[in-house]
Amino acid sequence: YSANQQTPDSAPTMTAMVTGVKTSDGVLSIDQDVARQEKDNAVIQAHKLTTILELAKARGMSTGVVTTARVTHATPAATYAHTAERDWETDSKLPAGTSVKDIAAQAVDNFAANHGMEVLMGGGRTYFMPNTKFDPEYPTVKGRRKDGRDLTSEWQTKFNGKYVWNKAQFDAIDPANTKSLLALFEPSHVQYEADREKMDGAGEPSIAEMTDKAIDILQKNKKGFFLMVEGGRIDHGHHAGNAYRALTDTIAMSDAVRKAMEKTDPEDTLIVVSADHSHVFTIAGYPKRGNPILGKVVGAGKTDFAKASDGMPYTTLSYANGRGYHVLPVGGDTSYNEPIQTGRVADMTHVDTTDQGFHQEALVPLSSETHAGEDVAIFA
Ligand SMILES: [Zn+2]
Repeated sequence: YSANQQTPDSAPTMTAMVTGVKTSDGVLSIDQDVARQEKDNAVIQAHKLTTILELAKARGMSTGVVTTARVTHATPAATYAHTAERDWETDSKLPAGTSVKDIAAQAVDNFAANHGMEVLMGGGRTYFMPNTKFDPEYPTVKGRRKDGRDLTSEWQTKFNGKYVWNKAQFDAIDPANTKSLLALFEPSHVQYEADREKMDGAGEPSIAEMTDKAIDILQKNKKGFFLMVEGGRIDHGHHAGNAYRALTDTIAMSDAVRKAMEKTDPEDTLIVVSADHSHVFTIAGYPKRGNPILGKVVGAGKTDFAKASDGMPYTTLSYANGRGYHVLPVGGDTSYNEPIQTGRVADMTHVDTTDQGFHQEALVPLSSETHAGEDVAIFA
């Protein structure tokens, strides 16, 4: 829960995780006594909460943030930015009359005095580019900044840093001679793990590969380091009601955790793994062990589908709300224009529910599946 909601969004949850203080829906690393979308930077500065990343920086440690979402999205942003609106990710999203800097600008400006964060990797490239420039990977896409700043070049000049935007450039980065790395692989979020190889022309590293490179850069500092790694697209797969992509990205996150464990020593390194909130996602029925997790329920000792009271089979996985059942082609779950179909809408006897375009059934029709309020696990 957050200070004002029974079920939180990712702004107050990550604020709680990196500052130890619960705050309100939609605000990043400021306390709950500020109204959402407060425009006066003096108010933000008076109510800002120190983050663990900032504490690490102040102690001379190296710091890094890795995500599969935009690096300006709520979870990564809460580690380095202070604002009363999580959506103010670039300056063209700021309302008139605000003196609060946008999140992308804060990623550079908040660390100008101590030579920048050492690693910032993920998506959100256009939020760092002026609207006079075209995206290097998608020639019709432009930068989103109105203020003319090119934060990718500022990162390089101000922090003696490097900037990459595709897999070949990423692979060519030698951590031994890289002081600081900004890597932005997509105009917005990076691809889902399930789509990464077929959907991305210029190539993107996996979250495990990003974690690997980040630790190599950060580990050079004898004082130690802080690194936050977010499997941000797990959440997006669930919002789409598409368990295939949510779970595939969860496996990719698990690979990143394994990589971090291989590269560090528990004698001097604490690894904490958790989620910042749940989703209305259930594992239901009495499917037998070994039944496909994305499949329809088949009971222990049985070979036929278990039938619901309406005589139709049902999937093990479902959602309490969201977009509901339909099958979309590869990559199709990123379209939010499909009609919502909820409840028991079709006989799925002959539907391949393990297809990556399959969206699990949902009870309550919403354009996007929601977060949920149960406790989440913490592993350390
Ligand atoms: Zn979410």
